[in-house]
Amino acid sequence: MSAPTRPALDFQAAFAARVRGMTASAIREILKVTQQPDVISFAGGLPAPELFPLADVKAAAARVLDTYGPAALQYSTTEGHPPLREWIAAQSGIPAQNVQIVTGSQQGLDLLGKILISEGDTVLVEAPTYLGALQSFQPYLPNYVQLPTDEGGIDVDALEGILKTTRAKLLYAVPNFQNPTGRTLSVERRRRLVELTAEHGVLVIEDDPYGALRFSGEALPSLYALGLELAGDVDRNHVIYSSSFSKTLVPGLRDAWVQAARPIIQKLIMAKQGADLHTPTLNQMIITELLPILPRQIEIVKQAYGERAQHMMARIAADFPGGVDHTVPEGGMFLWVTLPHGIDTQAMLPRAVERKVAYVPGSPFYALGGGENTMRLSYCTATPAQIETGIKALGDTIREALD
Ligand code: PMP
Repeated sequence: MSAPTRPALDFQAAFAARVRGMTASAIREILKVTQQPDVISFAGGLPAPELFPLADVKAAAARVLDTYGPAALQYSTTEGHPPLREWIAAQSGIPAQNVQIVTGSQQGLDLLGKILISEGDTVLVEAPTYLGALQSFQPYLPNYVQLPTDEGGIDVDALEGILKTTRAKLLYAVPNFQNPTGRTLSVERRRRLVELTAEHGVLVIEDDPYGALRFSGEALPSLYALGLELAGDVDRNHVIYSSSFSKTLVPGLRDAWVQAARPIIQKLIMAKQGADLHTPTLNQMIITELLPILPRQIEIVKQAYGERAQHMMARIAADFPGGVDHTVPEGGMFLWVTLPHGIDTQAMLPRAVERKVAYVPGSPFYALGGGENTMRLSYCTATPAQIETGIKALGDTIREALD
C-alpha cells in the first residue's frame, strides 16, 4: 500500500514570527572550519580546561552526595540553593532575596530579555557587544541602537546624545574585560553611565562574568554598586547585575546568578519556573562546596591568563605588520585586533586557516554591522609555542592581505 500523498508540512511557515530571523551563529559556523586538529585556534571562547579543579570537583561531588543524600538529587526551589544565594548576596552586601541563581548567565540574559523586552523596545548595546546577548535578546524582537566605543569602553558623550533623542528601555554592557574586545569601562564613564541611565529611566544589564579575572590594574566599582549608591536602596537600583562561576570555577556545571531589585527578581523567578523550574540541585551544591577554593582558583586562572595575554601581545609586537592595533586587556580572555581599513577579516579567514591559524572575525559582534577590519583573539587556551607559531602565521596572513 502506498503512503497517501499529502503536501509536506511547511516548517518555515510553522515557526513563530519571533524565530524566523534566527540564523545559526556565525561564530559556530566559523568554529567548525577552525576545529581541524592541526589549526592553532585563537577563535574559541572556552576557558582553559587544564586549569579546572578536577580533583576538588570530584571530592566536592562525593561530599555533597554523602551529606545531602537524595536531597541532592531532588527538585529544589526556583530561587536557588539557599547557602549559595546567601554567599553571593554577602559578597555585595545585599539581602539573599535580591539574588536569583540561573543556569549559566546565558539563561539570565534570556530570562531578562523575556521579562523586559517587548517587540520594538529600544535596547542599547556596545558596538561591538557579546554575541550571545544578541542571540538571547533577538527572539524578543528589540530595536537595537549601537553605542560607539573606544579604548575606555562606551563613549558616554555619545550615550548622552542618544538618550536625549531615543526612548530607550534597556542598556546592556560588559564593563570588565569585555567579550569580544577585552576593554574595560573607566570609572568616570561608569559613574556617568549610571547617572545618565537613571536620569532617563533606562534599565541597565551589567554582564560581568570576567570581573574576578583581573590580572593587572585596579579593580573598579561595578555599575551595580554605583547604581546602589545612587538609589540608596537595593530595591530601587536600576542596574541589574549578572555574573557566573563559568570562568572562575567551571562552565559545565552551568551555575551563575542575577542580582537585582525585588520586582525584577520576582518576575525572573516566574520566568525561570517556566524555563527549567530550577538550576540543577546537585550542581548548585557542588559549587557551594567549592566556594572555599574559589580564591585560590581565581589566583591560578588570573596568573595563567595574564601570562598568556602578555606573551600574545609581545608576539604581536614582534610579528604583526605596522598599522595594526590591538587592545591591552587588564583581565579576561580576549584581545581585539583592528587592521587597516579595507581588509575584510571574514574574507581573510580562509587564508589564515590555510596557514593553520584561526580567529573570529569581528563583524558578527556588531548588532547592526560594522567592524569588517576587526578580529577577536582568545589567548587563554594556547600554549606559548602555539602563540608563537600562530601569531607568526597570522602576521604573515595580514601582510599578504595588505599587499
Ligand atoms: N556573558 C558574556 C559576556 C560571556 O562572555 C559569556 C560566556 N561566553 C556569558 C555571558 C555566558 O556565560 P555562562 O557560562 O555563565 O552562561
